[in-house]
Amino acid sequence: MEKPKNNYGYLKLPEEINMFKPEGNTEVVFDIIPYVVSDPEHLDNKKYSEDAVVGDMWWKRPIKVHRDVGESVAICPTTFGKRCPICEYASRKRKEGMEWEELKEIYPKNRSLFLIVLRDAGDCEVDYEEGEVHIMDQSDFLFLQNLDDEVQRDIDNEGFPDPFDGLSLRVYWKGKKLGKNKYAEATKIDFEQREEQYDEDFLKDMPCLDDILIVHDYKELQALYFGMEGMDDDDPEDDDDLEIPEDDPKPAKRSRKTTKPDPEPEEEEEEEEEEEEPPVKRQRKTTKPTPKKKEKPSAKKLECPVGLRFGKDFDEYEECDTCKIYDDCMEANKALTGDE
Ligand SMILES: [Zn+2]
Repeated sequence: MEKPKNNYGYLKLPEEINMFKPEGNTEVVFDIIPYVVSDPEHLDNKKYSEDAVVGDMWWKRPIKVHRDVGESVAICPTTFGKRCPICEYASRKRKEGMEWEELKEIYPKNRSLFLIVLRDAGDCEVDYEEGEVHIMDQSDFLFLQNLDDEVQRDIDNEGFPDPFDGLSLRVYWKGKKLGKNKYAEATKIDFEQREEQYDEDFLKDMPCLDDILIVHDYKELQALYFGMEGMDDDDPEDDDDLEIPEDDPKPAKRSRKTTKPDPEPEEEEEEEEEEEEPPVKRQRKTTKPTPKKKEKPSAKKLECPVGLRFGKDFDEYEECDTCKIYDDCMEANKALTGDE
């Protein structure tokens, strides 16, 4: 039996908490546990101001992640409402006419972090401790979208992350392979009565998912991504004299990748993740169920391809000039401004 991992690229895990990584062809039961939001830039709050409010409990932490950053993957600063040199590079490339097939390798991927208590993980190769809290970091394409579909199918289940009155999830993970990469997709999710619920004391000890994210600043990320070989990224002094030409940075790693998408060491691959990636629809609050509000459909259909706020930041940035979803964003913007 393998041991579960307790360190993980862009996360600084609390010592006592391990990762849960879904494996193919397993059936796993777990509870999703909310945490207290600390980040005012939380992406769910940017989407719907009543969700994921600082100080309130919320059940997931969305992040955007770039590949090929140095030897690894890194969180896109737009996750925290900041500028990102890689997204900016992608925008320039798009203006120059780069094909989406290549661009999508540069743009960040959507993932979500969850605190989960494993109830039954007996099928897994890894020897997980059942009853313990783990962190699951999964591509939205492989889990969250399916979860949302299941909830839409029976809206009575939408209170599943409620710590005091929630439901367990029984997830059927199917193994998939793309090149050398193996990953697991949630093909079916059943909701079940929990064996036990949680209490305030339990929740008090939950780590804050906003606080475990490793954030690189703009220059650091620029240095890591644009292939400054042999550079020690632990030495920020060196970063200061780095100048990446504004017009056409030559990312050593990128140019290799863009001509021939070769299998990356990253374990997951979201082959169907396209610009028109379906949006993750909102779930209602976990602790204070509120009646579903009617929302402008246009405001939730799409996401900004460069990580700005869809609808809200309409036509405010250079990137907007050549955006593929300019018209949709304009419509959403009209809806928003008409509303406020
Ligand atoms: Zn980015």
